[in-house]
Amino acid sequence: MTLTPPPLSNDCFALPAGVDWTPVDDALELLRTRLTPVMGAETVPLEAALGRVLAQDVAARRANPPQPNTAVDGYGFAGGRPAGAHVLPLVEGRAAAGVPFDGAVPAGQAIRVLTGAALPDGVDTVILEEDVNTDGRQIAFNGPLKQGANTRRAGEDVQAGAVILTAGRVITPADLALAAATGLAELPVRQPLRVGVLSTGDELVEAGMPAGPGQIYDANRPMLLALLRQMGFQALDLGRAADDRGDLRARLDDAAARADVILTSGGASAGDEDHVSALLREAGAMQEWRIALKPGRPLALGMWQGTPVFGLPGNPVAALVCTLIFARPAMGLMAGAGWQRPQGFEVPAGFEKRKKPGRREYLRARMRDGRAEVFASEGSGRISGLSWAEGLVELPDGAVHVKPGDPVRFIPYGSFAM
Ligand code: AMP
Ligand code: MG
Repeated sequence: MTLTPPPLSNDCFALPAGVDWTPVDDALELLRTRLTPVMGAETVPLEAALGRVLAQDVAARRANPPQPNTAVDGYGFAGGRPAGAHVLPLVEGRAAAGVPFDGAVPAGQAIRVLTGAALPDGVDTVILEEDVNTDGRQIAFNGPLKQGANTRRAGEDVQAGAVILTAGRVITPADLALAAATGLAELPVRQPLRVGVLSTGDELVEAGMPAGPGQIYDANRPMLLALLRQMGFQALDLGRAADDRGDLRARLDDAAARADVILTSGGASAGDEDHVSALLREAGAMQEWRIALKPGRPLALGMWQGTPVFGLPGNPVAALVCTLIFARPAMGLMAGAGWQRPQGFEVPAGFEKRKKPGRREYLRARMRDGRAEVFASEGSGRISGLSWAEGLVELPDGAVHVKPGDPVRFIPYGSFAM
């Protein structure tokens, strides 16, 4: 008897019938409600605070600006002036930034002031240098000029004691300016989340090493390690594990002792060589998440000796999408930064695509001439498309037929801190 392969069914590429696929939003909601911050806090100087997660609200020690000052180079005096010509005598001396005038300016007289100078006693209004004629002893200008013109009030930007940055904030360069300006030299931040990255698969070889037939270079590890660093986490390189339970078990043991979260890639399905899911199942703390997502299924989520493990798919495209969509907000929450939703933008499509209902889809995309264009191939092994892209187009769970010019949601890589 000759063995014949079974016929292809019409729906061989359809999602399995009768199986519950978790919608992306439900999966995210589960992560959001089940995870909590796990990192302790420390205080660091401003120069070490960039990219760190603020551990508690911080308040201004000092107002900004600390005292009323002039916003322009010009001449200061008391009160506004009505329309018409005005001539005022100049007092001797001047007020410059950091070099205040230490007398009082009598009513009806004016003083030379330079940008940033504290307003001398008797001055609450400044006229712009360009609007004045002077012989060095008096100034002449035309009104009207409002009282307070061209000056900055004390605390008009920030009042002393006001909360300037709230807990969970990921510190930016501008935040450092704000903290410094309001009298702070250090900030309370969370310890960085330590994220271990492990690749699995007998076929994997280290970049640059000789590769035999059937072998491929480990592309996920350099990508994920770099991505995690960009996201502000402390990335731990856990190397490569063979498709061997003993090897994998030993590496997970080591990882659980050193990392707060473990990202593995490969071996997350239910096949013979899918040892990550097998081990997590054996440990009794494994959830195989059949997420209605393309590219990306399946995602194996489990606990290994108390450390959460994200078992990412092996395909680099799926591994990246799952990391951006699921692992990043989950890790952000554990790191103390709260649940971060990537900011997307509605933009006109520069492509046409039909999509069936049942799962959300992410396309490698980039903006050109005001439109989102997508990579020519959707194959999840196409690493060149990841590199070509500058973001993802998110297509909704339901059926869609996108035509050129239709609005689609574009999420730049930068929205994922990538
Ligand atoms: P798996 O999830 O282990 O079945 O792997 C799915 C596909 O991704 C296979 O073609 C693997 O060879 C490939 N793959 C797995 N891990 C990596 C990796 N670290 N770098 C590049 N390709 C990988
Ligand atoms: Mg594999």
